[in-house]
Amino acid sequence: MDILATLNPAQKQAVQATGGPMLILAGPGSGKTRVITHRIAYMVTSCGVAPYHIMALTFTNKAAREMRNRLELLLGQDSSGLTLGTFHAICSRILHREGRAMGLDSRFAIYDEEDQLSVVKQVLQALNLDAKKFPPQALRAAISQAKSQLVDPEEYAQHVDSYFEEIVSRVYYQYQQRLGQVQAVDFDDLLVKTVKLFRDHPDILSRYQERYTHVLVDEFQDTNIAQYVLLKQLAGRNPDICVVGDPDQSIYSWRSADLRNIFSFESDYPQAQVVLLEQNYRSTKNILSVASDIISANVQRKSMHLRTENEEGPRVTIVENENEGEEAQRVVNEIQRLVDHESLSFRDCAVMYRVNAQSRVLEDSFVRYGMPYKLVGGVRFYQRREVKDVIAYLRVVNNRHDDVSLARIINIPGRGIGIKTLSLLRGCAQSEDISLYQALGRLLERKEFSSHIAQSALAFLSLMESLIARGHQLDLAQLIDEILQQTGYREYLMGQERGEDKWENVMELRSVALEYDEFPPGEALAAMLDRVSLATELDGLDDRADVVTLITLHQAKGLEFPAVFITGMEEGLLPHRKAFLSLEEMEEERRLCYVGVTRAEKYLYLLRSYRRNLFGRSIANPPSRFLRDVSPHLANLVTARGLWQETKRGTSRPEPQSPAINEEWRVGDHVHHRKFGDGIVMNCLPENGDCIISVVFKEAGVKKLLLSLAPMEKIIPNFEYNDGDDSAEASDGQDAGS
Ligand code: ATP
Ligand code: MG
Repeated sequence: MDILATLNPAQKQAVQATGGPMLILAGPGSGKTRVITHRIAYMVTSCGVAPYHIMALTFTNKAAREMRNRLELLLGQDSSGLTLGTFHAICSRILHREGRAMGLDSRFAIYDEEDQLSVVKQVLQALNLDAKKFPPQALRAAISQAKSQLVDPEEYAQHVDSYFEEIVSRVYYQYQQRLGQVQAVDFDDLLVKTVKLFRDHPDILSRYQERYTHVLVDEFQDTNIAQYVLLKQLAGRNPDICVVGDPDQSIYSWRSADLRNIFSFESDYPQAQVVLLEQNYRSTKNILSVASDIISANVQRKSMHLRTENEEGPRVTIVENENEGEEAQRVVNEIQRLVDHESLSFRDCAVMYRVNAQSRVLEDSFVRYGMPYKLVGGVRFYQRREVKDVIAYLRVVNNRHDDVSLARIINIPGRGIGIKTLSLLRGCAQSEDISLYQALGRLLERKEFSSHIAQSALAFLSLMESLIARGHQLDLAQLIDEILQQTGYREYLMGQERGEDKWENVMELRSVALEYDEFPPGEALAAMLDRVSLATELDGLDDRADVVTLITLHQAKGLEFPAVFITGMEEGLLPHRKAFLSLEEMEEERRLCYVGVTRAEKYLYLLRSYRRNLFGRSIANPPSRFLRDVSPHLANLVTARGLWQETKRGTSRPEPQSPAINEEWRVGDHVHHRKFGDGIVMNCLPENGDCIISVVFKEAGVKKLLLSLAPMEKIIPNFEYNDGDDSAEASDGQDAGS
């Protein structure tokens, strides 16, 4: 296959100019990711570079998978041996291999956010600090931020600037101690420790530099300081490092991504070639113009020219809704229409939103309608309680000193080891500087438990010892069976609400384990635990299934869909209200909106609601300022119907029950009701997706009516009302109550 044939001249230049540092800056859909894959293929086929010498870094596991697929198409078997993955996954692999040099056990556990929080809470307790005054989440975030800038506890302590930082400093120190004691690392540590490993062990670093002579990075605008330092270490003095990014799509500064890395790259590598790609291949002209309307209001940006040879395309559709229910229903209806009449598939459609909580109403509508969908970023599979329980058992089998996991399962299923016993264990572990598992053994030896608890503790220890011993002989699925059976976990679940569903999730985990049956037993466990820890939300997404994607705007980065619906285009939601007071954050919200808009290939819908229930409250948000920036000639406006109806699958469009429902009802409208005669609208209140309309009738006085059922229509005053209109509803108007 001719690797260069499907590239434009600028892309070709970027692909062929290997051998030195390169910075590719370009807008969405301009082929940045394509350049990376083709550059790799070109190096392998035309420059004789062995894949073994290439490392490609991407932002999500899904992006990594997609890149591997594309490379397999370009290279076939030749792509094996290539190192391709997220920063975290690749660092994790390096630490497993080399961690010993810095005293890190190769069986280290990886703690996710929930695990981290539980360590922070323990530390707060040990320091006698009130979790209400110092929210664990805020402390966790502060620690994470310090780490992403490679600031260790000692350095942090030297720069404390406020009372809160003083607290962070103390917690950070203890937190890191705890992690060290139990041989665990958190996500940020994967990067921090790798950087430290390379810094303190030049011999190891030079081995890696010799191996990875070619490094490529996608989505460079969202790297943080730690990631950038790591890249510089790997690239060494003879760098063939190629980074691609789009400053307008930088959306992770809240996770310490640092846009300045792009400028640092230019000054760190003054010899770097800078390539700009200006042609967009993804979107229609209309969509690109809308995107440009939105992003050009940002002041802190270099303006970038984007053009496309794609068709003009349909106008984008701005949809106003009464409430979130109508919004969701209209999304479902419109997707059905696209499938029925525009020959799209479900998989071609994505619904995007600012915050996860918005997905619930959407899900409800999809379920009710029977439309297949996949939720990305809700409760992730690996985060479900029952799945985490079984994983915690596996983690303790893998590393008995994993305290967080041990504390999780020590009384699951219940075996009489309660909070009191646990805090006894914690006290002992802390004062003697040992793990909880060791503390359990010690307290048993010293007979410090009551006989009843001693019995349970002993039974638990011997259960775990036998599992640990068997763990090396059994294959993974058998090990899971053994855990489930020995602990009576199924019975435990069945005693709970939705026990059957939960059991299905556990069985799903078992099927994940089956994928490891080619590994030697000892290695399979570590490999699977690694994957579990690194699984991001996107991993659950089966790329082949024909389903609609529900996804947050943040997660949608790098993806593309023929039809995109962005819901909740409202002040307070998009832009999010936390950004109101800061120009920087507001600009990031705008970039986020831009990322969403530029995912669309042909159809784009921007939806908002007058009212919505969210976070347990009813709110009325004004339209998003980003909607105001869209030039009117690019968009069609669809106003609220004041009513939406449930439709069943098969009837592709809802049939209006009365001709009135497609019209807008305004205060002051003249109406005619079949029973009550002529009147004037006084009020119209949304109610459960319908509307309660108050009308003062000439004869019958004030009535409140349910709009969907009232045999009523608008009339032009002073004109005769035609009583013979046969589209009027046969059913009687229903009084909506006093
Ligand atoms: P984003 O900023 O959103 O990540 P990107 O710059 O990485 O976008 P790609 O995903 O690489 O863009 O490309 C966008 C789409 O355009 C893809 O479907 C890709 O296959 C297509 N494309 C890119 N370059 C060309 C080309 N020269 N000819 C035809 N199609 C192209
Ligand atoms: Mg891309």
